[in-house]
Amino acid sequence: MKEDCLFCRIIARQLPSEIVYEDDTVLAFNDIAPQAPTHVLIIPKSHVATVNTVADADAGVFTTLILRARAIAADRGIAESGYRVLFNCNAAGGQTVYHLHLHLLGGRQLKALG
Ligand code: 5GP
Ligand code: ZN
Repeated sequence: MKEDCLFCRIIARQLPSEIVYEDDTVLAFNDIAPQAPTHVLIIPKSHVATVNTVADADAGVFTTLILRARAIAADRGIAESGYRVLFNCNAAGGQTVYHLHLHLLGGRQLKALG
């Protein structure tokens, strides 16, 4: 755990969150400022800051997060209508929390990315 990391503190239950899914390696919880009816953040329990800093040997984390997002989308009934999964990376990519997280957005028509 990284003591000054917001999402590590959520994992450790030092801060509250609305947990959607949890297992030994992954936590999923509702975004505090949802941009869509479904806006879930899926994170690895092991701290890693960004897409850039995931080691090649740990790249399976990407698959784990995306498969979990897919399962949550299916649970929410939005798999067929559609949804978006995305990682923001570093400042120009819009990243504000430096613990890797996959956004799952759905439940409304999303605009094309600009
Ligand atoms: P980023 O911009 O880094 O890709 O996404 C960070 C996300 O974390 C934002 O969508 C923001 O609303 C969410 N967020 C920031 N602080 C908290 C928090 O304390 N709890 C929860 N559940 N979400 C948070
Ligand atoms: Zn962290």
